[in-house]
Amino acid sequence: MALASCKQILEEAQKKCYGVGAYNVNNMEQIQAIMTAAKETNSPVIIQVSRGALKYSNSTYLQYLMKAAIIENPDIPIAMHLDHGNSLETVIKAIELGFSSVMIDGSLMEDGKTISTYDYNVKVTRSVVEYAHARGVSVEAEIGTLGGLEDGVGSDRVHLTEPKLAKKFVDETNVDSLAIAIGTSHGAYKFKGTSTNLAFDILREVRALIDIPIVLHGASSVPKKLINEINKYGGKMSDAAGIPVESLQEAIKLGITKINVDTDGRLAITAAIRKVFTECPEKFDPRDYLGQARSELTNLIVLKMNAFGTVNHANDYIPKGFEEMKKLYISK
Ligand SMILES: [Zn+2]
Repeated sequence: MALASCKQILEEAQKKCYGVGAYNVNNMEQIQAIMTAAKETNSPVIIQVSRGALKYSNSTYLQYLMKAAIIENPDIPIAMHLDHGNSLETVIKAIELGFSSVMIDGSLMEDGKTISTYDYNVKVTRSVVEYAHARGVSVEAEIGTLGGLEDGVGSDRVHLTEPKLAKKFVDETNVDSLAIAIGTSHGAYKFKGTSTNLAFDILREVRALIDIPIVLHGASSVPKKLINEINKYGGKMSDAAGIPVESLQEAIKLGITKINVDTDGRLAITAAIRKVFTECPEKFDPRDYLGQARSELTNLIVLKMNAFGTVNHANDYIPKGFEEMKKLYISK
């Protein structure tokens, strides 16, 4: 069984100082692309699903596509992860679908937009930790808020993480990993002008204070090459900008373990489909353009896995199942 807990995948990565990409999915081609890349590079992988994706796919379709990935790839540790859970109720639903890991984003209220208080965040995160750990499921939480929207989730205000508060939060909630805000944002338009600086001083401070894996949301690079392709074939994305790969590698060195990638996958797919439509207007078989999108996405993720140092770590450990994880949480 290749289903693994995010806790295990991330702690193994933390030990060896490499990053693991968490790739968002909505459909079969995305899941297949991720798994082909993981297989090709022998990398552990986190497949993550937002509430929007669950709604789009009517949950059951995506649930079984992810299970297909697990059946097809018994040698790759795969975490099924809920991205930006907004309530205990959503988390319970994901756990019932078989997710091995969930995120509760209590930095925002249940509407996924309004910034919450510290006390609210602690309270909702604690309730999720209690429910999830009792079932062997790992929990990611967030402190500080990112800018930008992701599947309609997010605030337009940015609050960088306060390191001391992050330490207090981890102590009070017992979460397995923590997303922090150091200047990244969701979406394809992360920076205005030329500045792409991240607050590495905050990351350093947080790393010195807490020892659980740290997560970077909004970490797509928005490659110029893909933006140029999209625009060349009729798209309109002139000011798009992301986090340079070098900054992500620096972040991994300083203690980031989980790197969330959604936008870049969307860009690779859009560029590929636009190209087929423009160059071969006579084509109408979805396999012609979705297949091309799938292979371009595979190429992108292979590059990510290499850049993050994830390659050749799939066989470092044996994935622990829910029962084993449950025992581990109880023994703590
Ligand atoms: Zn996010």
